[in-house]
Amino acid sequence: MMSMGIKKENAIYGDNITIMTYMRFEEVEPWADTFNTVAHKNERGQTYAAFKKEKAEIIIDELEKKFPNIRDCIQDYYTSSPLSYRDYIGTNRGSMYGYAKDVNKSMQSFISPKTKIDNLLFTGQSLNMHGILGVTISGVITCSELLGQDYLLEKIIAANQPEKLEN
Ligand SMILES: Cc1cc2nc3c(=O)[nH]c(=O)nc-3n(C[C@H](O)[C@H](O)[C@H](O)COP(=O)(O)OP(=O)(O)OC[C@H]3O[C@@H](n4cnc5c(N)ncnc54)[C@H](O)[C@@H]3O)c2cc1C
Repeated sequence: MMSMGIKKENAIYGDNITIMTYMRFEEVEPWADTFNTVAHKNERGQTYAAFKKEKAEIIIDELEKKFPNIRDCIQDYYTSSPLSYRDYIGTNRGSMYGYAKDVNKSMQSFISPKTKIDNLLFTGQSLNMHGILGVTISGVITCSELLGQDYLLEKIIAANQPEKLEN
Protein backbone atom coordinates (compact mmCIF):
# COMPACT_ATOMS: atom_id res chain seq x y z
CA MET A 1 0.00 0.00 0.00
CA MET A 2 1.39 3.35 -0.93
CA SER A 3 0.03 6.77 -0.07
CA MET A 4 1.30 10.31 -0.59
CA GLY A 5 0.56 13.16 1.74
CA ILE A 6 0.61 16.89 1.21
CA LYS A 7 1.94 19.05 4.04
CA LYS A 8 -0.62 21.82 3.91
CA GLU A 9 -4.17 21.91 2.60
CA ASN A 10 -3.19 24.35 -0.14
CA ALA A 11 -0.05 22.50 -1.23
CA ILE A 12 -0.05 21.15 -4.77
CA TYR A 13 2.57 18.40 -4.43
CA GLY A 14 3.25 15.83 -1.76
CA ASP A 15 6.77 15.63 -0.38
CA ASN A 16 6.48 12.29 1.36
CA ILE A 17 5.36 8.77 0.62
CA THR A 18 4.22 6.09 3.05
CA ILE A 19 4.54 2.46 1.99
CA MET A 20 3.21 -0.48 3.95
CA THR A 21 3.76 -4.13 3.24
CA TYR A 22 3.51 -7.45 5.06
CA MET A 23 6.13 -8.72 7.47
CA ARG A 24 5.94 -11.79 9.66
CA PHE A 25 6.92 -11.38 13.32
CA GLU A 26 9.28 -14.36 12.92
CA GLU A 27 11.52 -12.13 10.81
CA VAL A 28 12.16 -9.80 13.75
CA GLU A 29 12.26 -12.57 16.37
CA PRO A 30 16.07 -12.21 16.83
CA TRP A 31 15.45 -8.75 18.36
CA ALA A 32 12.18 -9.64 20.14
CA ASP A 33 13.66 -9.03 23.60
CA THR A 34 14.58 -5.40 22.81
CA PHE A 35 12.32 -2.42 23.51
CA ASN A 36 12.74 0.90 21.73
CA THR A 37 10.55 4.00 21.54
CA VAL A 38 11.35 7.70 21.40
CA ALA A 39 10.47 7.98 25.10
CA HIS A 40 12.49 4.90 26.08
CA LYS A 41 15.43 4.93 23.73
CA ASN A 42 17.34 1.68 23.33
CA GLU A 43 19.38 0.50 20.41
CA ARG A 44 18.27 -2.77 18.84
CA GLY A 45 21.75 -3.12 17.39
CA GLN A 46 23.58 -2.93 14.10
CA THR A 47 22.16 -6.19 12.75
CA TYR A 48 18.64 -4.79 13.15
CA ALA A 49 19.58 -1.56 11.36
CA ALA A 50 21.09 -3.64 8.53
CA PHE A 51 17.99 -5.86 8.42
CA LYS A 52 15.70 -2.84 8.10
CA LYS A 53 17.90 -1.25 5.44
CA GLU A 54 17.84 -4.46 3.42
CA LYS A 55 14.03 -4.55 3.60
CA ALA A 56 13.70 -0.86 2.71
CA GLU A 57 15.92 -1.32 -0.33
CA ILE A 58 13.76 -4.24 -1.55
CA ILE A 59 10.69 -1.99 -1.28
CA ILE A 60 12.44 0.85 -3.12
CA ASP A 61 13.47 -1.63 -5.86
CA GLU A 62 9.77 -2.50 -6.26
CA LEU A 63 8.85 1.17 -6.26
CA GLU A 64 11.34 1.85 -9.00
CA LYS A 65 9.51 -0.58 -11.26
CA LYS A 66 6.54 1.82 -11.16
CA PHE A 67 8.48 5.07 -10.76
CA PRO A 68 11.89 4.72 -12.44
CA ASN A 69 14.77 6.52 -10.68
CA ILE A 70 12.64 7.51 -7.70
CA ARG A 71 15.53 6.34 -5.49
CA ASP A 72 17.53 9.39 -6.59
CA CYS A 73 14.71 11.65 -5.38
CA ILE A 74 14.68 10.27 -1.83
CA GLN A 75 16.22 12.60 0.71
CA ASP A 76 15.73 10.28 3.67
CA TYR A 77 13.55 7.41 4.79
CA TYR A 78 12.30 6.00 8.06
CA THR A 79 11.21 2.44 8.66
CA SER A 80 9.08 0.72 11.26
CA SER A 81 8.64 -2.99 11.84
CA PRO A 82 6.30 -5.18 13.88
CA LEU A 83 8.62 -4.39 16.82
CA SER A 84 7.80 -0.67 16.47
CA TYR A 85 4.05 -1.40 16.53
CA ARG A 86 4.49 -3.75 19.49
CA ASP A 87 6.53 -1.22 21.49
CA TYR A 88 4.41 1.83 20.67
CA ILE A 89 0.85 0.49 20.69
CA GLY A 90 1.29 -2.71 22.69
CA THR A 91 -0.11 -5.06 20.05
CA ASN A 92 0.58 -8.78 20.22
CA ARG A 93 3.60 -9.68 18.03
CA GLY A 94 3.43 -6.23 16.45
CA SER A 95 0.15 -6.78 14.65
CA MET A 96 -1.03 -3.76 12.72
CA TYR A 97 -4.76 -4.39 12.70
CA GLY A 98 -5.42 -6.32 15.91
CA TYR A 99 -6.19 -10.01 16.24
CA ALA A 100 -6.65 -12.06 13.08
CA LYS A 101 -10.13 -13.45 12.62
CA ASP A 102 -10.59 -16.96 11.26
CA VAL A 103 -13.43 -17.13 8.76
CA ASN A 104 -13.62 -20.91 9.24
CA LYS A 105 -13.86 -20.65 13.03
CA SER A 106 -15.73 -17.40 13.38
CA MET A 107 -17.04 -18.04 16.90
CA GLN A 108 -13.57 -18.98 18.17
CA SER A 109 -12.15 -15.67 17.00
CA PHE A 110 -15.15 -13.60 18.07
CA ILE A 111 -14.49 -11.20 20.94
CA SER A 112 -17.56 -9.97 22.80
CA PRO A 113 -17.66 -6.38 24.09
CA LYS A 114 -19.13 -7.77 27.31
CA THR A 115 -16.96 -9.78 29.66
CA LYS A 116 -17.89 -12.05 32.56
CA ILE A 117 -16.62 -9.37 34.92
CA ASP A 118 -19.23 -6.74 35.79
CA ASN A 119 -18.54 -3.31 34.27
CA LEU A 120 -15.51 -4.54 32.29
CA LEU A 121 -16.12 -4.04 28.58
CA PHE A 122 -13.90 -4.35 25.52
CA THR A 123 -13.73 -2.13 22.47
CA GLY A 124 -11.33 -1.37 19.61
CA GLN A 125 -10.01 -3.02 16.51
CA SER A 126 -9.77 -6.59 17.81
CA LEU A 127 -13.46 -6.61 18.60
CA ASN A 128 -15.07 -6.13 15.25
CA MET A 129 -13.22 -4.34 12.50
CA HIS A 130 -9.88 -2.58 12.28
CA GLY A 131 -9.31 0.94 11.00
CA ILE A 132 -10.70 4.31 11.90
CA LEU A 133 -14.23 3.40 10.77
CA GLY A 134 -13.96 -0.11 12.24
CA VAL A 135 -13.08 1.09 15.73
CA THR A 136 -15.84 3.73 15.59
CA ILE A 137 -18.32 0.92 14.92
CA SER A 138 -16.75 -1.09 17.78
CA GLY A 139 -17.26 1.95 20.01
CA VAL A 140 -20.94 2.05 19.12
CA ILE A 141 -21.29 -1.69 19.79
CA THR A 142 -19.64 -1.33 23.20
CA CYS A 143 -21.68 1.75 24.15
CA SER A 144 -24.83 -0.12 23.07
CA GLU A 145 -24.11 -2.65 25.82
CA LEU A 146 -24.32 0.17 28.35
CA LEU A 147 -27.06 2.35 26.87
CA GLY A 148 -29.09 -0.03 24.72
CA GLN A 149 -28.78 -0.20 20.95
CA ASP A 150 -32.13 1.42 20.06
CA TYR A 151 -31.57 4.38 22.39
CA LEU A 152 -28.03 4.97 21.09
CA LEU A 153 -28.94 4.63 17.40
CA GLU A 154 -31.86 7.03 17.84
CA LYS A 155 -29.48 9.57 19.38
CA ILE A 156 -26.97 9.13 16.53
CA ILE A 157 -29.66 9.52 13.87
CA ALA A 158 -31.11 12.57 15.65
CA ALA A 159 -27.66 14.14 15.89
CA ASN A 160 -27.46 13.97 12.11
CA GLN A 161 -30.84 15.66 11.76
CA PRO A 162 -30.40 18.85 13.82
CA GLU A 163 -33.98 20.06 13.30
CA LYS A 164 -35.34 16.89 14.99
CA LEU A 165 -32.98 17.29 17.93
CA GLU A 166 -34.38 20.77 18.61
CA ASN A 167 -37.90 19.38 18.91
C1 LIG B 1 1.07 2.28 10.31
C2 LIG B 1 -0.43 2.15 10.40
C3 LIG B 1 -1.20 2.84 9.47
C4 LIG B 1 -2.58 2.75 9.52
N1 LIG B 1 -3.32 3.44 8.60
C5 LIG B 1 -4.66 3.42 8.67
C6 LIG B 1 -5.45 4.18 7.74
O1 LIG B 1 -4.93 4.90 6.86
N2 LIG B 1 -6.80 4.11 7.85
C7 LIG B 1 -7.42 3.35 8.80
O2 LIG B 1 -8.65 3.32 8.84
N3 LIG B 1 -6.69 2.63 9.69
C8 LIG B 1 -5.33 2.65 9.65
N4 LIG B 1 -4.60 1.91 10.56
C9 LIG B 1 -5.31 1.08 11.53
C10 LIG B 1 -5.84 1.92 12.68
O3 LIG B 1 -4.82 2.82 13.13
C11 LIG B 1 -6.21 0.98 13.85
O4 LIG B 1 -7.11 -0.03 13.39
C12 LIG B 1 -6.88 1.76 14.99
O5 LIG B 1 -6.06 2.83 15.42
C13 LIG B 1 -7.13 0.84 16.17
O6 LIG B 1 -7.74 1.58 17.20
P1 LIG B 1 -7.84 0.99 18.65
O7 LIG B 1 -8.46 2.06 19.49
O8 LIG B 1 -8.47 -0.37 18.64
O9 LIG B 1 -6.32 0.72 19.09
P2 LIG B 1 -5.09 1.73 19.18
O10 LIG B 1 -5.31 2.96 18.37
O11 LIG B 1 -3.89 0.88 18.93
O12 LIG B 1 -5.16 2.17 20.71
C14 LIG B 1 -4.77 1.31 21.75
C15 LIG B 1 -4.12 2.17 22.81
O13 LIG B 1 -3.90 1.38 23.97
C16 LIG B 1 -2.63 1.70 24.49
N5 LIG B 1 -2.16 0.56 25.29
C17 LIG B 1 -1.75 -0.66 24.86
N6 LIG B 1 -1.43 -1.43 25.90
C18 LIG B 1 -1.64 -0.69 27.01
C19 LIG B 1 -1.49 -0.95 28.40
N7 LIG B 1 -1.07 -2.12 28.85
N8 LIG B 1 -1.79 0.04 29.25
C20 LIG B 1 -2.24 1.25 28.82
N9 LIG B 1 -2.40 1.54 27.51
C21 LIG B 1 -2.11 0.58 26.63
C22 LIG B 1 -1.77 1.98 23.27
O14 LIG B 1 -0.64 2.75 23.62
C23 LIG B 1 -2.75 2.73 22.38
O15 LIG B 1 -2.74 4.11 22.61
C24 LIG B 1 -3.22 1.96 10.53
C25 LIG B 1 -2.43 1.30 11.48
C26 LIG B 1 -1.05 1.38 11.43
C27 LIG B 1 -0.22 0.65 12.46
